[in-house]
Amino acid sequence: MCGVFGVYNSKTPAEDTFYGLYSLQHRGQEAAGIVVAGYDEDKKKTVYRQHKGMGLVAEVFKDEELFDKLHGYAAIGHNRYSTTGASKSASNIQPFSLIYRSGNLAIAHNGNLTNSQVLRKELTEKGVIFHASSDTEVIPHLAALSREKEPVHQIYHALRQVEGAFSLVMMANDQLIAARDPYGVRPLALGMKIDPDTNEASYYIASETCAFDILSVDYVRDIEPGEILLIDKISTRTHKPKSLFLPPSKRKARCIFEYVYFARPDSTIFQHSVDKIRRNLGKNLARESTVQQNNGDKHLIVASVPDSSNTAALGFVRESNKINRPARFEHGLIRNHYVGRTFIQPGKASREIKVRSKYNIIRGVLQNRQIILIDDSIVRGTTARMLIKLIREADPKEIHLHISSPPITNPCFYGMDFPTKGQLLTNMFDGAENEQEEIESIRKYIGVESLKYLSLQGLLNSVPKFENETCSYCTACFTGDYPITVADNKGEKEECEC
Ligand code: 5GP
Ligand code: MG
Repeated sequence: MCGVFGVYNSKTPAEDTFYGLYSLQHRGQEAAGIVVAGYDEDKKKTVYRQHKGMGLVAEVFKDEELFDKLHGYAAIGHNRYSTTGASKSASNIQPFSLIYRSGNLAIAHNGNLTNSQVLRKELTEKGVIFHASSDTEVIPHLAALSREKEPVHQIYHALRQVEGAFSLVMMANDQLIAARDPYGVRPLALGMKIDPDTNEASYYIASETCAFDILSVDYVRDIEPGEILLIDKISTRTHKPKSLFLPPSKRKARCIFEYVYFARPDSTIFQHSVDKIRRNLGKNLARESTVQQNNGDKHLIVASVPDSSNTAALGFVRESNKINRPARFEHGLIRNHYVGRTFIQPGKASREIKVRSKYNIIRGVLQNRQIILIDDSIVRGTTARMLIKLIREADPKEIHLHISSPPITNPCFYGMDFPTKGQLLTNMFDGAENEQEEIESIRKYIGVESLKYLSLQGLLNSVPKFENETCSYCTACFTGDYPITVADNKGEKEECEC
């Protein structure tokens, strides 16, 4: 996964992009980059300047002098999240910036293309030279090969040929262009700020609205599925950016897992508050739960696995109390916020020390209690298994693990960092006669008194409905119903590029 950001008509585009990416840090911690468009007085034209590097945004942009170099009026930025070998290479750090027959082009991508290998092969045969191994790179090459004159039409032409998930921010000479695939898999929002003196608009594009809040930018609307939005000098005066639309898809496929886990709860994505939906997930989980408090206990203790399930736990407690199952939220686990994904553990970095470095228990809260532990999802099962071992050290009476989403049974081809099917915990118990038996085996493996996943219907009841849409979400990781065909490596996904 990744986070993308763009700004147009700002006096401090690099700084704005830095703060935007800083808010979107949860969407990618491996690398970050900014490309700025600035007017060069000597050359009498727009030039692009960039800085990119491996690591967190604050690490990559730690020298303040960098911002003196990155001056201009527009910028795009990217936070990268990936897991495997090739993607660690510096050549894959986005935004990609290049010069082609129509001038400058820069691109930052969140999502995963599902036919990039096929297109790459065709392009390579035509003599195109690739610089990186990322799926994104086919887009600028396709645009460059287009016969259209205007960059936005060249981009349209390129995007007609790619399949899969893409939320894009691009710059073409002195224009900012944002685009979202027709299925609307990944979020992308438009923000605006009006200068009260000049009445000119500054425009902002971000994966999530939390990036607008840090800059006091107003959220205007989402970039629509299939929309290509063009922002230029004229739109700063008219306050009306222009749009083109890709041919519509039969259905929409907003990633439901963005609501379950990935997005920040203080963001609005797909037009709705993530916080509100996570509370709904907790509420519906409480309705489906069958745990009753032991005789003599005043209430159940509900603890979350911080931070991603905090909000669901709040929704759970509120609903539990409404339906006469007295419950109280407690912080039973404390998370060390300085442990990043790239945290280096010296010595024998066992799984145990990894989990212990990230979480610790509060014994007094857990001891001799009946605990409902809420987490948002189980992927490989490592976290849950190790956490339960850790919580047992506090000697609770019972641990009931509740998950605010259904079992993950299928890999994601559209950008989530889900491993191949083989690495998913559910796969280990695939031989089970039925779902009940499978969940019972997982319960034993994790080592809890009971295990409850939210049902698929419970999940669908928690998310907003979109009018006139028969199908609004991608639920493939839970159902195997893949909305977009995967032309590349038809079996298992090898590597998540973004
Ligand atoms: P597991 O150990 O089962 O693989 O990980 C599950 C935990 O990781 C849950 O607490 C969940 O919040 C978090 N999680 C869920 N999806 C992802 C993901 O795509 N990437 C990362 N890094 N963590 C995830
Ligand atoms: Mg978590």
